[in-house]
Amino acid sequence: MADTKSGRDEQARDEERRQVERDISEARERGDEPEPTADPPAECHRRGCSEPAAFSVTERYQEETGAGAVEATAFLCVDHTAEESPVNVDDAYEGYAFRVEPVGAGDRD
Ligand SMILES: [Zn+2]
Repeated sequence: MADTKSGRDEQARDEERRQVERDISEARERGDEPEPTADPPAECHRRGCSEPAAFSVTERYQEETGAGAVEATAFLCVDHTAEESPVNVDDAYEGYAFRVEPVGAGDRD
């Protein structure tokens, strides 16, 4: 019967589709698909500056509201990194940090 055959074909297609969906979700569970990562911005954080970000400047200090330590990170170009300096030394504590790290260093060879 034609009806039975087309019904079987449809069922086979469903099976196939389910298999594909299963493969995708299994791949996700295994972590095959890259999670969207928080890439550092490509451009300098300073308004109006479109130079490539060369350094991440991070300052960790004690929030004056008593909320605890906070870290403020800005991605800056070379020039603006050179201008950067600690601004929250009044809130310095034993864990205070002012850190400048190159970004994307691994990409340059
Ligand atoms: Zn800049």
